[in-house]
Amino acid sequence: MDQEKIGKFIADCRKEKGLTQALLAEKLGITDRAVSKWETGKSLPDASIMLELCRILEINVNELLTGERIIMDNYKEIAEENMVELRKKVEKSDKTLLNIEKALIIIIIPTYAIMILGGAYMCKFGHIPFGIALMAVALLSVISAGIVGMQIEHDAGYYECPNCGERYVPTLKAMYMAPHYGTTRKMKCPCCGKKGYHKKVLTKERGGK
Ligand SMILES: [Zn+2]
Repeated sequence: MDQEKIGKFIADCRKEKGLTQALLAEKLGITDRAVSKWETGKSLPDASIMLELCRILEINVNELLTGERIIMDNYKEIAEENMVELRKKVEKSDKTLLNIEKALIIIIIPTYAIMILGGAYMCKFGHIPFGIALMAVALLSVISAGIVGMQIEHDAGYYECPNCGERYVPTLKAMYMAPHYGTTRKMKCPCCGKKGYHKKVLTKERGGK
């Protein structure tokens, strides 16, 4: 996706409609700075705003993402290319999220161990309230890191059933209940109903990794 081309296209369509950046921004309920950022190719409109923007500019989402008017002939082809590109962006950010989760685990476990040991040490030398407070803080941080990590794992990518190959997003509750090693979890498949170890995958389509 060529952000600069998209930006120029948005600016052209806006001018065709006789709208200023400020007027377009007002119609969308956003700041004119955001519109200026799109038009200079610094950012893309959020998915939540794309449809409304297209309606105002009287273009379709594919034209927006391609940065030009599309004649019907190659419409389908370009639509598919745009879908693939959007999906790639999602996968990239999912991968980043999962890496953040790994980093979180690597940082939090030693910190936790040091705090617990420190707490125990303090208790041993008579500073019992401090020692207990330190251990409590350690426990709380580990729990909150666990919750954040679990949310990341839930939001990023899918789980694959080894039995029927279904790829799905489980409920948070199912994830909390599931024993796991790494990002592989023992869960019940919503498609075939069999229990098994379900691997984390980034794409919905089979064949992807
Ligand atoms: Zn299954």
